[in-house]
Amino acid sequence: MLGPAILAASRSDKMRRIVSAAPVTKPVVTRFIPGETVDQVIPIVEELARKGLEVTLDVVGEDITTVEQSYAARDAYLELVARLKDLGLGEKAEMSVKLSMFGQALEGGHELALANVRPVVEAAAAIGTTVTLDAEDHTTLDSMFAIHEELRKDFPQTGCVIQAYLFRTEADARRLADAGSRVRIVKGAYKEPAEVAYQDKGEIDKAYVRILKTLMEGKGYPMIGSHDPRLIAIGQELARQAGRKLDEYEFQMLYGIRSEEHLRLAAEGHRMRVYTAYGTDWYGYFMRRLAEKPANLLFFLRSMITK
Ligand code: FAD
Repeated sequence: MLGPAILAASRSDKMRRIVSAAPVTKPVVTRFIPGETVDQVIPIVEELARKGLEVTLDVVGEDITTVEQSYAARDAYLELVARLKDLGLGEKAEMSVKLSMFGQALEGGHELALANVRPVVEAAAAIGTTVTLDAEDHTTLDSMFAIHEELRKDFPQTGCVIQAYLFRTEADARRLADAGSRVRIVKGAYKEPAEVAYQDKGEIDKAYVRILKTLMEGKGYPMIGSHDPRLIAIGQELARQAGRKLDEYEFQMLYGIRSEEHLRLAAEGHRMRVYTAYGTDWYGYFMRRLAEKPANLLFFLRSMITK
């Protein structure tokens, strides 16, 4: 029951100010968001690469309110691509972006977000890597999929995320499972109403399996975004049934969550990509991680009390 309350708080400016200012917040945040700057995150990418893991990098931030902030988001990603290029890390690291950070919710936001994300996708392609468009709340998705389709005309490898909890997603998966597509399937992390999304965990898991089957049987490249041991095992089985080789799909997990499982899957020969977020505007990302596992919240609160 705590999850929905935490998700509601994740959109509250007042809670943002309180949580962000609490002196004990930082060490807890670092578990999920291991750096604030490119300089801090690059050694982490290098270490993950040494362990045989790949990375998708997310500059945290969302729901920006000015056009200038949308340009700053674009520039932060361009700086990241330049660093990956200098260090020759283009092969190991791709990027994940949230279009709300690129201005999607502002007036004329669809065009603005597309104009901001295009140079990032272009720069990524120039160093041999790709960008995946994260899925945010359901009201943003028509715009996200339209931008994805537009970008794919010039950069067919551009990926996108679909969320198993939404009723619409089975149809989206059928549409997206075409040759050359890269699609990450996740359960879904936002607070969604019963009109558009399954509320029951069992229903969400069943939908996840149906959608993953569609992706595996399709012609694209499925990216299994989950820490759920049952879904990981089912993913392996579905890949086997579809006759896919180990390099024809991948697993993805979040930095700081089930890290031993990252290594186990990589040691089995799977492609394993760690979603690694960094930056200063970490509040929304952090709160969603708390909502997924309320024990994280207890850990956080305990650290506030014992400090
Ligand atoms: P769960 O049933 O939630 O978790 C399974 C097990 O994993 C838990 O029992 C626990 O042991 C562990 N676990 C899961 N979450 C946590 C946590 N926060 N802290 C500690 N342990 C945990 N959602 C979106 O809506 N849009 C996106 O674009 C998006 N991108 C994602 C990218 C990646 C690579 C991943 C892995 C997730 C992404 N998500 C995204 C989040 C996703 O929707 C889920 O909220 C999240 O993955 C938890 O679901 P799960 O499949 O891990 O299963």
